[in-house]
Amino acid sequence: MPNNRFKKSHPKPAITKIAKLGMDKKSFQQDFKHYYLHRLGRDENCRSPYYAYTASALSLSDRLIERWKSTYNTYRKNDCKKAYYLSMEFLIGRSMSNAMLNLGVEDPLRKALYELGLDIEELEDAEPDAGLGNGGLGRLAACFIDSCATLELPVVGYGLRYEYGMFKQLIENGYQVEEPDHWLKNGNVWELERPEYTQRIKFWGHTENYVDEQGTTRTRWVNSHDILAVPFDMPVPGFKNGTVNTLRLWKATATEEFDLDEFNAGEYAEAVAKKNNAENITMVLYPNDANENGKALRLQQQYLLASASLQDVIANWIGRHGTDFSRFAEKNCFQLNDTHPSISVAELMRLLIDEHQLEWDEAWEITTQTMAYTNHTLLPEALEKWSVGLMQHMLPRLMEIIFEINARFMAQVSAKWPGDFDRMRRMSIIEEGHDKQVRMAFLAIVGSFSVNGVAELHSKLLKEGLFKDFYELWPEKFNNKTNGVTPRRWLAGCNPELAALISKHIGDKWLTDLSQLDKLKSYTEDAKFRKQWREIKQANKQRLAEYALHEQGVKLNTDALFDIQVKRIHEYKRQLLNVLHVIHLYNRIKSGDTQNWVNRCVLIGGKAAPGYAMAKKTIKLINNVADVINNDPEVGDKLKLVFMSNYRVSAMEKICPAADLSEQISTAGKEASGTGNMKFMMNGALTIGTLDGANIEIREEVGDENFFLFGLTEEEVEALRGHYNPQTYIEQDEDLQAVMQLLECGHFNQFEPGIFDDIISAVKSPADPWMTIADFRSFVDAQRRVEQAFLKQEDWTRMSILNTASSGKFSTDRTISEYNDEIWKLDAVNVSS
Ligand SMILES: *Cc1c(COP(=O)(O)O)cnc(C)c1O
Repeated sequence: MPNNRFKKSHPKPAITKIAKLGMDKKSFQQDFKHYYLHRLGRDENCRSPYYAYTASALSLSDRLIERWKSTYNTYRKNDCKKAYYLSMEFLIGRSMSNAMLNLGVEDPLRKALYELGLDIEELEDAEPDAGLGNGGLGRLAACFIDSCATLELPVVGYGLRYEYGMFKQLIENGYQVEEPDHWLKNGNVWELERPEYTQRIKFWGHTENYVDEQGTTRTRWVNSHDILAVPFDMPVPGFKNGTVNTLRLWKATATEEFDLDEFNAGEYAEAVAKKNNAENITMVLYPNDANENGKALRLQQQYLLASASLQDVIANWIGRHGTDFSRFAEKNCFQLNDTHPSISVAELMRLLIDEHQLEWDEAWEITTQTMAYTNHTLLPEALEKWSVGLMQHMLPRLMEIIFEINARFMAQVSAKWPGDFDRMRRMSIIEEGHDKQVRMAFLAIVGSFSVNGVAELHSKLLKEGLFKDFYELWPEKFNNKTNGVTPRRWLAGCNPELAALISKHIGDKWLTDLSQLDKLKSYTEDAKFRKQWREIKQANKQRLAEYALHEQGVKLNTDALFDIQVKRIHEYKRQLLNVLHVIHLYNRIKSGDTQNWVNRCVLIGGKAAPGYAMAKKTIKLINNVADVINNDPEVGDKLKLVFMSNYRVSAMEKICPAADLSEQISTAGKEASGTGNMKFMMNGALTIGTLDGANIEIREEVGDENFFLFGLTEEEVEALRGHYNPQTYIEQDEDLQAVMQLLECGHFNQFEPGIFDDIISAVKSPADPWMTIADFRSFVDAQRRVEQAFLKQEDWTRMSILNTASSGKFSTDRTISEYNDEIWKLDAVNVSS
């Protein structure tokens, strides 16, 4: 890369070993003061906690960077095999408390700040979330890199540095309003710009053939409009092990070359303005969860991620091994987080063939031995397709390569199933039709040696449904990797009191071996332990109530059952079913049916994709129902409904420790895994859920008697399709009739006539894919069982303890160990300090 700052001829600074920075209270105090006073220029008169946060973060960052260097040098020395996690999303949230926890300096830093009159929690709250993801898929990537570092695996995360992350959700008159999230506006303490590793990315232009010096005909991509990808690295600390891995996020910028014609024609401003165009590519995260929409800018983002990351890895390879790629596949593995980065299959082929002169067969061998693909959804509308026309225009060389991959693949299919043209049409990477499409999932499967789903049921359904043809061709490629969450952030970090109680009784090995939590099972009969367990839950509920009062202005009674559903708003997740139940509870209160009543606070939170009308209307419905219920004196403390606005990682860290009941109520067969379900379980919530995604495995682990199961199974859902008739359910169920009647008479929209008509007709439609009405009775019955159980507080506490104790399987340490044992096959590398 032409960059004067990094010329090889510059002298190296004569810096040898220096003493490591102190990890004690005094060292932190010194560094804090230095940054606060000298770098940030603040003093005792500054009241904003933001600067105190920044000074603390800079002090921590220095210590991370030391370990980062050691890790880098150790990996280099070992020349170890590496894996690369390619993901369009990393939903990191905040970094400071995680850095403290993983460096093991919570105590000294807390005390250092306390002595300066600062409250560390207030500083933590001043950190903006890095919201570079939509929901589960992006958060999974963040949990994964935490576990990789903790397991001492040489894994690099590759993603995009969006200037604007997930939008901020405001609620106005009950409706979602989106506000841009300019999370970088005050700078980002946790990143390090590495312009020396800038990569050049081609777009547009066309291809041409030429004959090289050896007389071989080759193809090149010419007249392209190039942009630059500049890496910004974020440190990923392992848990108290000296390892700090790298998350490398690419930012798009313009090349420094100006268009000379424009320039000379006096169009100086226009030439400079092109810079803006390039920077648009990584300007904003697409806020659609499990649903893509064919926008050119999104394809540019995907290609930038793929091309920059692969070029980075190849440059590294050449720096160490020269241009001999024969051992490349032995030393490198790419894990594709969904189809978003699957253009990597074609891009690696292009780089190897066009840029490094490999033959097709060699390049294909390498590609198919290094790529591994994770599928995240069964929803057909979420399967990515790109128009062939768009690709030919934007990525002409890539489209040629995809055609060639497909031609060879079709020959393979035809050899195995001669004359089976229907199968060829089904399996083709190119979907025929008047607007031909590239099926990205198929490109990923054909180009990968491993294809995995993210929970047992999901992986089974992939083999039986969506990817059946491919499973018949390559059964050995298919495997399951049940998701998890990192217990550092989702138990130790977010629930420190519970973590301390657990460690006091079973030691602290559970932090890196979550199966140890099993030992808690012997404490269910210890009355004192149960009391402490309950008191901690109560304190967490109190904190959440304060947060809800501050954020939403509602008062919650902390003796009530905290019944929580937080996740993206989507029809398949069935927030509507939850609302129908709340309306049913309201009806019970209004009709005096309140024997053995259990007071309940129902909290619902989540963002709707800005273009998803039904999801946005669901938010409005929740808010309107909440308005009626919360302002009815007859209801009082018996029932509260709260929409928690702007759900995000830092909100979940306050929410999941306070939950009594976790709502995981998707239509069976639609939620690939879910990970919110795991965070709640780990923190001692009981689950009410369908047999869907990882709920099935959660129930297996905790036992049926500690799980509130309801609803149709996936097989029953499929069997019902085609002759589902919601009307018959309504006719046979008086409670459901009463709920529908309230909705239909406009009880919740008295001055807004008709606004919920589309929701009402959707649930009443025989074509409702989510079959909400079909599960109503079963859901209400399960909620009755919840109430009966909650009345017996000692038994409830036993079940709560058992849920945490049985959550060991759902650590991403287990998930990542499986990825490594079965797919990546990396050696752990200890970074001795
Ligand atoms: C865990 C998490 C999710 C995923 O929740 P699901 O219930 O599995 O959909 C989404 N968003 C945030 C902020 C999370 O922390």
